[in-house]
Amino acid sequence: MISSHTNTFCVIGDPVRHSLSPLMHNAAFKETGTDGVYLAFEVKDISAAIYGIRGLGILGVSVTIPHKVSVIPHLDEIDKTARQIGAVNTIVNDRGKLRGYNTDCFGASKALAEKTEVQGKRVLIVGAGGAARAIGFGIAEKGGIITISNRTEEKGRSLAHDLQASFCGLEDLESKDWDIIINATSVGMAPKIEGCPVPESILQPGRVVMDIVYNPQETLLLKKAAQRGCETVDGVSMFVYQGACQFELWTGRDAPVSAMEKTVRRALSL
Ligand code: NAP
Repeated sequence: MISSHTNTFCVIGDPVRHSLSPLMHNAAFKETGTDGVYLAFEVKDISAAIYGIRGLGILGVSVTIPHKVSVIPHLDEIDKTARQIGAVNTIVNDRGKLRGYNTDCFGASKALAEKTEVQGKRVLIVGAGGAARAIGFGIAEKGGIITISNRTEEKGRSLAHDLQASFCGLEDLESKDWDIIINATSVGMAPKIEGCPVPESILQPGRVVMDIVYNPQETLLLKKAAQRGCETVDGVSMFVYQGACQFELWTGRDAPVSAMEKTVRRALSL
């Protein structure tokens, strides 16, 4: 029950009304008997939002597009991984001190680890935005051999440089061998569900194909990959694991991962 003791958590972003984070985190609070409530705030002015978070004593915040980079100078401390990635998706308010973390990196690594080792594997990451950057750092840390591909070549090459990885043009993907293929673009996301970010021919049996798009749960890429005998990892797994990591940072308790996953999958199947 919400009372005058209830702690407040939230997501800040723009747009934010599509976010499943409130559903997922409120389910986690309920499941663990945590006295907390999680809300969504549409934020245009990041500086004013951080001022409000400090003033109101909001305990934990998820940060989404377009504020993951611009929030950094407003925080008191940035965790090492978030600093390396250059983006923050989580804020912990520790008695007035705001610390920034990046749990996308952990979420993607954990989701992938359920299906495959990464060490020594040839990993193709398609995309060069914030999510690709977070995932790339996680995979590099685990010893994956990364190649970046991206629609805008300059951005792709720049991320490849930062990760000490290779770059491959989208038109050349068929000429190389891959063990793991990750879509880190928004291609295939509802309502444009007919999009597939890579040529079907690279989806060969035995390869692991991960899509970080989670709406729909089974994107066209994952559907084609499964039909062609690939192992698949969907975007819901990453979303839930990054959220579970946030929950643990905010509460110091183990996250109720299966209740969180059930809530998200149910909402997406409506
Ligand atoms: P972002 O920073 O805006 O980057 C978008 C990426 O998608 C860029 O590489 C962009 O290429 C590419 N792209 C966009 N439209 C394209 C198109 N029509 N054709 C080819 N490439 C296209 O976004 P982000 O934060 O990295 O997020 C990317 C996706 O991941 C979003 O759908 C987001 O919802 C999802 N995501 C999922 C999770 C999860 O937990 N499952 C977490 C974070 C993000 P250019 O450089 O050429 O523009």
